[in-house]
Amino acid sequence: MQVHGLKDRTQDLRKSLNDSLEGDIRDFLINEAELHTYDDLTKVNPVTPSTVLKCLQARYSAKVFYTHAGCTLVALNPFQPIPHLYSLDVMREYHTAPQPQEFKPHIFIVAEEAYRNVQGQVEPINQSLVVSGESGAGKTWTSRCLMKYYATVATSSQKCQDTVEKIERRVLDSNPVMEAFGNACTLRNSNSSRFGKYIQLQLNGSQLLVGASVQTYLLEKTRVAFQAPTERNFHIFYQMMKGATEKQRLEWMLPSEQDFAWLPHAEKTLEEDCLRETVEAMINLGIDERKRTQILAGLLQLGNVYFSPASEEAQPCDLDGHSKGLICFSADLLQVPLDELQSCLTVRTLLAGKQSVLKPCSQSECGVRRDCLAKVIYAQLFDWLVTFINNSMCADSSMWCNFIGLLDVYGFECFLLNNLEQLCINYANEKLQQHFVAHYLKAQQEEYVTEGLQWSFIRYQDNQGCLDLIEGSPSSIFSLLNEECRLNRVSDAKQFRVRLQKELSDNTSISWDKLSKEPHFTVAHYAGNVSYQIEGMMEKNKDPVPPEIISVLQKSQDSLLHSLFADGDRESEGSRGHSKVVTVVSKFKNSLESLMKILHSTTPHYTRCIKPNPDCRPLTFKKEEVIAQLEACGIVETINISAAGFPIRSWLVRREIKKWHKAASIIQTTWRRWRAWMDALAEAELDDAEDFMENEASSVLPKLDPLLKERGSVQLSSIQEPVLVRGWPIGLAMASAPSVTVSLTATGFQRIMSMMACLKSPFRHGGYKVKTNQFDQGVASIRAQPRGSIKMHLQRSPLLYADMHPVHKTDVVTGFNQILLERT
Ligand code: ADP
Repeated sequence: MQVHGLKDRTQDLRKSLNDSLEGDIRDFLINEAELHTYDDLTKVNPVTPSTVLKCLQARYSAKVFYTHAGCTLVALNPFQPIPHLYSLDVMREYHTAPQPQEFKPHIFIVAEEAYRNVQGQVEPINQSLVVSGESGAGKTWTSRCLMKYYATVATSSQKCQDTVEKIERRVLDSNPVMEAFGNACTLRNSNSSRFGKYIQLQLNGSQLLVGASVQTYLLEKTRVAFQAPTERNFHIFYQMMKGATEKQRLEWMLPSEQDFAWLPHAEKTLEEDCLRETVEAMINLGIDERKRTQILAGLLQLGNVYFSPASEEAQPCDLDGHSKGLICFSADLLQVPLDELQSCLTVRTLLAGKQSVLKPCSQSECGVRRDCLAKVIYAQLFDWLVTFINNSMCADSSMWCNFIGLLDVYGFECFLLNNLEQLCINYANEKLQQHFVAHYLKAQQEEYVTEGLQWSFIRYQDNQGCLDLIEGSPSSIFSLLNEECRLNRVSDAKQFRVRLQKELSDNTSISWDKLSKEPHFTVAHYAGNVSYQIEGMMEKNKDPVPPEIISVLQKSQDSLLHSLFADGDRESEGSRGHSKVVTVVSKFKNSLESLMKILHSTTPHYTRCIKPNPDCRPLTFKKEEVIAQLEACGIVETINISAAGFPIRSWLVRREIKKWHKAASIIQTTWRRWRAWMDALAEAELDDAEDFMENEASSVLPKLDPLLKERGSVQLSSIQEPVLVRGWPIGLAMASAPSVTVSLTATGFQRIMSMMACLKSPFRHGGYKVKTNQFDQGVASIRAQPRGSIKMHLQRSPLLYADMHPVHKTDVVTGFNQILLERT
């Protein structure tokens, strides 16, 4: 019976807790006027995705775009310029504030916190600012803001102003150049970074900016030769087309009326299409822009070259009439021999023993080779630019001792069709998420320790299983992809899927849709499931560059192009499988590992950019969009962790309430004792005062209103009605009325006299003028000094009921709320 009773009670309790949580959520959400005031999402109470979402929405409507989420900053994209939000004055305000974190949440708080950490020289001194979010969420904007902030605040020294200005200018100039070559207009963002970057701002011992370096990751080079419907190529091509002078058009062989296959949606005009800004920045950085743009023009011409099947079997493919002229332009612009350019695209060289045999490529192979030529040139050019920029910005290692790193990384991606690029990007996000959760948990734990709490840790989503699936050993998706490359055979998607199933079926993070005909695999990422198509994946991983293409580029008369490929059997398949192929996933994994090493050695700061609507419309907040991103960037996870830790943000409340209870009972007990003590004292004092009261009072004092006589009261000169005086609060009445005329009733006279005596107040016959002498001391009056361990302060009590007078009558003197009793 008892057990059942307990069970029922537990169920009842649980139900009532659930009901009360729902009630709390309802109450919280109803309180619309308050919602936007929450500066930290983890302090929203109760912490649930719906309360958090509502809170963000309210802030967004109130044009508040930054909100803390524990140790993370959430940045909502306003999609319209917000005046004065990033002005120099605002920068200075945050920079000079004694406690910037007490200001409104802002990206400058993150920037300043990192900067002060370096100044404070507390390990780990170096800092990393990780800016993530999906395309269009505001990462590039945020990174730019951060760079501008440091370029402004870390340059205060007059002495080295010149050097600093140079560096600062270069750091800022590197942005438009890298954006022109590495950003593109996509379905989701008109200025989407198609590469990841880690910028290291180098600071000297006085925390002045003395240099910078940039490391890039996984440029989406396929975009040069292939743009998804409704997407565009890299900005630089459109800048050239739109911004070229007549002279440049002639030089680049780009007549304005010509259409280019690799330049879709050229009619769209974006603010990013500004060649002048890119050229200026290139010139400032010391880059000879004419050479680069000429090479790019060569690529555009190449994109219009098409192949037709050979008229005779065993002959290379032909070029159609129009293409013959275009390939000449391309050869001219790339400064390579025309015949060799044509043959490297159409003929393959096979090695048979010591002999080499020429084999014509099929029509589709020719197209693949053409695209490959463009991609390899563009990727090398991009790397060269990054190296050049680094050389112009990077300080000598003796000049700097600390750095603030800025990681602008592509967010989690899930498209209708996902390939190797998405696998790499999502793998990077898994790694960063693991780092973030570890960091967040550490920060939480430290907070508990400072609160003096013993706390065994909460459960959280551990993504190690997913990482093992992708990169682990001995068997993982990456290891199997690499093995496929080493075997150097024509890959078969279906076979590869069977192999994955055989090797990895133990891992719960991978699954297969049995109904799907396309060979694929599905990975359960922390941010959701993503299906990857296997077709084409192995080829992308090999990223083969035919040796014929490399050898033509080595013959280029263009000194830059020549130098880019001079030592270049690099990734070419030249050695025909005898050499160790460095695959795309191996390279990516290695560079990510070195990035993680840097992140682990620094103090991280996370900023999560959120795109509030898919159409980039100003001030439009779509809940479904936002919650999906909060999930994808781990904020929901953070909030869950906070919610799991919430028994703490309630333990504290219970502790506080207990303290108040204790204080209240001390007040009650002391008050009762005190009253008893006063009563006893008054009784003792009044016992033998009868005669004086009768004789003196009746002869000397003026006649009083009979009503007053009866009540025994003090008449304040400024108040017509008598004020009833009870026990010790009399002093308060007197304190607030420094000049008081006392009218005494016959019966109350002796009592008042006793009080006056206790107050040590001067007393005059006739006018009965009384002045308090405790007025200066703060404490107005008490009938008898409290005994023992009680202290009185004139300060506001946190207790609600301290606002009430202990005697529940309306005509009493109040003021008790300002007195807090404290046990000493
Ligand atoms: P991402 O780098 O994440 O792909 P961007 O930084 O390019 O996204 O942002 C997309 C667009 O949103 C920008 O072109 C800009 O117009 C706008 N934007 C982003 N952040 C802000 C901001 N804080 N204030 C005003 N506009 C912004």
